[in-house]
Amino acid sequence: MRIGFGYDSHRLVEGRKLILGGVEIPYEKGLLGHSDGDALTHAIIDAMLGAIGLGDIGKHFPDTDPAFKDADSIELLKQTVERVRGEGYEVEWVDSTVVIEEPKLAPYIEKMREKLAVLDIRPGDISVKAKRNEGMGFIGRGEGVAAFAVCQLRKIEPAL
Ligand code: MG
Repeated sequence: MRIGFGYDSHRLVEGRKLILGGVEIPYEKGLLGHSDGDALTHAIIDAMLGAIGLGDIGKHFPDTDPAFKDADSIELLKQTVERVRGEGYEVEWVDSTVVIEEPKLAPYIEKMREKLAVLDIRPGDISVKAKRNEGMGFIGRGEGVAAFAVCQLRKIEPAL
């Protein structure tokens, strides 16, 4: 069994879509980033890469590479899960938290779990939680969001 941890943050700005966990959420601002800025999916990718000891998202999908401009982060997650399988592991469980002052994410959580359940991962194996930051700091002021994730992998048993 392997455990990995991931963290990400992105700035909230006007003129961008708000995409978290692969779901577009109607809001006056969105997340700035070279890709679609999906901080939640990025934290989950980092947790998976951490669990197999293969660095972080910046190493695999550099933000200097035009190929990843406006990239769909769910596609990057798929590639990461394939990478995990290539190392002989599969995803057993993901737990994650997005910290965002507004909007309320509760209505979108189930949709996010479905979107994040790529390849052979089931929505029931992905936990997504959302919290406000009680008005404190950059999150409280609505300047940005942060996301945290842990991931548990199990070794793929060779077929007999
Ligand atoms: Mg990011």
